[in-house]
This record gives sequence, C-alpha cells and structure tokens, in this order.
Amino acid sequence: MRVLFVSSEASPFIKTGGLGDVAGALPKALAQKNTDVRVVIPKYKEISWEVRDKLRFVKWFNVRVGWREQFCGVWECLYNGVTYYLLDNEGYFKRDGIYGFYDDGERFAFFDRAVLDLLRQIDWQPDIIHCNDWQTGMLPVLLQFEYKKNDMFYWKMKCVYSIHNIAFQGVFDPQILPELFGFDMELYDNTCLKFDDGVSYMKGGLYYADIITTVSDSYAYEIQTPEYGQRLDGVLRDRSYALRGITNGIDYDEFNPKTDRFIKKNYDINSIEDKVINKTELQKELGLAVDENVPMLAMVTRLTNQKGMDLLVSISDRLLQQNVQLVILGTGDKHYEEHFEWLDFRYGNKVSANIKFDNGLANKIYAACDMFLMPSLFEPCGLGQLIALRYGSIPIVRETGGLKDTVTAYNEYTGEGNGFSFRNYNADELYNIIQYALWIYKDKEQWNDLIKNAMDSDNSWNKSAQIYLNLYKELAGKD
Ligand code: ADP
Repeated sequence: MRVLFVSSEASPFIKTGGLGDVAGALPKALAQKNTDVRVVIPKYKEISWEVRDKLRFVKWFNVRVGWREQFCGVWECLYNGVTYYLLDNEGYFKRDGIYGFYDDGERFAFFDRAVLDLLRQIDWQPDIIHCNDWQTGMLPVLLQFEYKKNDMFYWKMKCVYSIHNIAFQGVFDPQILPELFGFDMELYDNTCLKFDDGVSYMKGGLYYADIITTVSDSYAYEIQTPEYGQRLDGVLRDRSYALRGITNGIDYDEFNPKTDRFIKKNYDINSIEDKVINKTELQKELGLAVDENVPMLAMVTRLTNQKGMDLLVSISDRLLQQNVQLVILGTGDKHYEEHFEWLDFRYGNKVSANIKFDNGLANKIYAACDMFLMPSLFEPCGLGQLIALRYGSIPIVRETGGLKDTVTAYNEYTGEGNGFSFRNYNADELYNIIQYALWIYKDKEQWNDLIKNAMDSDNSWNKSAQIYLNLYKELAGKD
C-alpha cells in the first residue's frame, strides 16, 4: 500500500491542535504496519527547529494558481519511518502564525494543487490520498475534474477525506473558482461547492472524496444532525453510505509518563504514588500553594466556546470557594483569556492561568493534575482526555462525540469506569459532576483504583491504524 497523507499540520513539525497530533501519529503507526506512507505539509516559518535541521532540499517546480505561476520548493526528511515532504513558498507560508490570513483560500488552493503536481514531479503514485479538514478539501475536486481527466498517471488514485472538526469549513468568495482554480462557475451554480454566498472547501472534500471518515463513531452520527452538522448535515446524510467513524488514538511514545522528558518524576501504572511528585513540583513552578492533598483541576485547550469555556466561567467563583486548585493552559478568545487572568489575580495561589502554547508545560500539567476538564459543546474526538487518561489524570467530560466514546463514567459500586461525565450542556451539571468527583477523591483507595482504570485504557493508535489500513485496502481493491 502506498498512502499519501495530506495535512496542514503534523507534529512534531508544526502543531496547533488535534489535527497536528493525528498527522504525526497515524502515519507513524501505518509505517509500522509495512505501509509506504508519506506525509505532505506546507513549509511554514514556524516549523520546529528540532526537525528543521533534518530537512533536505529535493527540487523545485512551478504551480499554476489561476493565471499565475508560483514557485514551489520541495524539502524532504525521513522521520519515524515516514517520509515527510514540506512544500515551500515563502509568499504563502513564511509568516507569523499558520492560519487566519486574508488569503487563506489562495494559500491552500496553491497547496492542494502543489500536492498533486508533486506526485508527478517525484514520480510516485499513491494508491490512496488521505486529505484532512478544509485546507485539503479542494484536492479531491482538482483530482476529479482536472488531474484524472488530463493525465492517466492519476487514474487509479482514491481519496479519503477526514473531518477533524466540521466547524471550520474554509468558505471563500466564489470568484476563487475561476481566479485560483481556473474552473468555471458550474460547481457553484449547481450547489456542489456552494455554501451561502461562498464556496466551501470542506464541501468539496465531502462530495468528491471516495470515502469520508471522521474521528469518532459518535461524531460520525452527530454531524448528520442539524444540532452538530454546522449546516453540512444534509450533505453528510446524502453521503452517509460513504461516512465512517474511526476513533483517534495518541502516540504512546510521545505521551508516556514513564519516559516523558518534561516531567520531574517518571511513573507508570505500577508506581502511581510517584505521580504526586509532579503535582508538588508544578505547584512550586506555577506559584500555587504546595499541598499534595488539594485536588488540582486542569485544562489544556483552545479557549473557545467549543471547549465549554462558558460553563467553566459561570461556575468558577462557586468552585473556587472550595479547597481546589485550577490550572489553565491555553490561548483563544480574548474574553476567556482575560477571565482566567482575572481568576489568577483574584484567587492568588489557588489558580494559575497560562495564556500561551507550550508543549512542555502541557505534559507537566497532564502528569500533575488530578482531574482534567473537557466540558465541550462538541468534540469530534478530543485528544486531551486521552492524554489525561494515559497520565492517570481523571477526565471530567461532557458526553459528546469522542468524549462519549472514550470516557466511561465511574461506577463507585462496581469500580468500573475511567472518568466522570455529564450529559447536558449546562453549568450546574458540570458543577455537580465536579462535586461528585471531589467526593470520590476523598477516598484515596478508590481514587487510586480509578487512576489505574484510567491508565489501563487502551487509546494507542494500533487498533485504529489497522482500521484505516483495512479501509485503504478495500478502497484500492488490494489485499
Ligand atoms: P482541538 O480541538 O484543539 O484539536 P484536541 O483535544 O483534539 O483539541 O487536541 C488538542 C491538542 O493540543 C492536545 O494535544 C493538547 O494537549 C494540545 N494543546 C491545546 N492547547 C495547548 C496549549 N496551549 N499548549 C500546549 N498544548 C496544547
């Protein structure tokens, strides 16, 4: 099997969220299953230095963007058994930050076409092109309407399109069809790409890929409903026969409390008593009261509505009247950032708000905290809760999407379950479940059993990578 994994980010090169984790870990897991898997991402300014030095320049060629010709440099490196290609165009990608620019539509129109041209340039024919999220949504459209029509080289290639978050759809002015793709307006007029008065890249992926996947079973179901479908639920119901849910895993080498180089004291399921050393160490580092008995609640997340921040905001004063500590690491909407900074000021050594993106601190928090909050409004899969489980920090989640599929509510009578959950998007429900968790926390023996259940949960990529591989084979008609 030859698989090309196309993404706008991939850890450890560049990561802003879960997509980066998946694009780092899934190809690695596939490579371990004897697949020739290659990953292609843009070469951003902020590619991490640790891997930047390993890059080797391969060649350059021109890419057609509408009537213009744009330079595309190809850089390559082998990492974890996977070949990575980084596509270079400084005009598009050498900027501070990776998304959110006025010309994102053009940047990823360039990228999608450059990826298809790359295959000809390096003379490599994948069986499967696996696209991810809106940034790569126009690739299946280009493949279908242009490349397969003009060049036999592309005939047999099949497309898988994965939705990591349907809330981000890449909607741009319809004039980009002629301007950037050299198409006429048919795909807009016949509504295949139309979304309100714009063109949606994600809709392109949904209609023109051979198979659509998303990152958990529950989310695959949810996005076919108006409540979660972000107005693409109709398209997804249309194509439900081609839609599958495959739950994400996490990279068990990268997230391993036994070997984690960021944390003070390594531990595993047989030495959970050492976990608390990381807690007191983090308390010192963040200026919190040093006390191993005070329950530490944490979040490592984008500070946006999706993540249930408004629920936490509305209970934070009530919660902080109690003997708890709250640690936040994240960036996002200004009003949330300011709210947590205010709590940090108001509650002194009970709250630590860290408004930044910091992988090392994230791991320290996963290792240190007792409870990890994810009260999300919607959550395609969620990786935070999986990492927390791996580190024996107990997730408290809302029952939606992947959170519902990976966290089982603790049952104090049978001792089963690996976390706590609540159903409705309601601040009191969040508050009450935290109270229940704090109650269980008081019984150390019971809590330690819960930690063991959490650390025993298997969320490695092994199982899911096999499901992807079977899907690729089915699609390519190979054994
Ligand atoms: P998202 O919707 O953002 O993709 P996920 O839970 O799927 O949410 O993945 C988020 C990933 O990004 C996790 O690995 C989490 O630890 C990481 N992350 C989020 N915010 C930060 C931050 N401020 N610093 C470090 N890592 C972060």
